[in-house]
Amino acid sequence: MNTQQTFRTLTITVVLLAACFAVPLSAQSVPEAKELNLYSARHYKTDEALYSDFTKKTGIKINRIEADDNALAERLKSEGANSPADVILMVDAARLWRAQIDGFFKPINSKYLDGRIPANLRSKPDPEGSTWFGLSTRARLVVYNKDKVKPQDVDTYEKLAEPMNKGKVCTRSGTHPYMLSLIGAMIERRGEAATEEWARGMVANMARPPRGGDTDQIKAVASGECGVALANSYYLVRLLRSNKPEDKAVVSKIGFVWPNQKTSGAHINIAGGGVAKNAPHPKAALEFLEYLASDSAQEYFANGNNEWPVVKSVKIENEGLKMLGPFKAEDISVAAIGRNQIAAQRILDRVGYK
Ligand code: FE
Repeated sequence: MNTQQTFRTLTITVVLLAACFAVPLSAQSVPEAKELNLYSARHYKTDEALYSDFTKKTGIKINRIEADDNALAERLKSEGANSPADVILMVDAARLWRAQIDGFFKPINSKYLDGRIPANLRSKPDPEGSTWFGLSTRARLVVYNKDKVKPQDVDTYEKLAEPMNKGKVCTRSGTHPYMLSLIGAMIERRGEAATEEWARGMVANMARPPRGGDTDQIKAVASGECGVALANSYYLVRLLRSNKPEDKAVVSKIGFVWPNQKTSGAHINIAGGGVAKNAPHPKAALEFLEYLASDSAQEYFANGNNEWPVVKSVKIENEGLKMLGPFKAEDISVAAIGRNQIAAQRILDRVGYK
């Protein structure tokens, strides 16, 4: 190698080295792009207004990936550290808890969110500080056939497992997150032994093996196949507000009760979310999450699926929710409900609750 060649090699090396250092430095000084990637398990048309309102207020464009919770989780796992996800929204405490265990979320420091969202409706930060927040609430209530069942016989979750309701009870699969969360909450209230006893009674009382979703349970109650079933509040509201003759026929056959009103209150679950672990737009992600806890967004967010806001000062005008009337809600931490999933699943396995 002659002097000229050595010089050229050196020059190239210096240029390459400079490029290596220059890219990250200049990347740091470039402001974050005005966009964010939202992975959402929500699929309600009314959410559109929420997203466009955020973009109008902040100039941040939202790119949406919508899929059910399982598909989102699979996608996040396969994308790993390269995931473009900024914000992850999911429905149900069980799934949010699982997502936290799977390491999908990053730590959030927001006095605003801490102040707006009650402590029992968000996760405790894990050892790495990652966390998620509930953004709307739903209740799990009892629906019964007016010809077959007296409301006072089914006005607690516990009574559904008593011998007087033999052959009358229907639920969706016990392993569905809505049921796992209900059972997780019962474990928190009454302990594992009493909950296992309850689950055994439920299996003994079933009108048919668990199948279908919550709306299917309500329809089976109306048809008389089941005397009593459990359903999330928004499924019932959807039917109560429907103008379709077939839905009106269903509604005419059923009654509903708010369970456990003299004791622990109706079981409450959440839809919520957090900032993704490797969010490429972390500032925009946090801004969006904080926006979702603002007064106007809480209204949209909860109304979008006939749910209740998590921010207590926000009052919504929703005809469907008014039909359900006031009720006493459980105040168990949704994080504890999540944590009890594994114990809940073990109980189901032991008693043969499919
Ligand atoms: Fe649902």
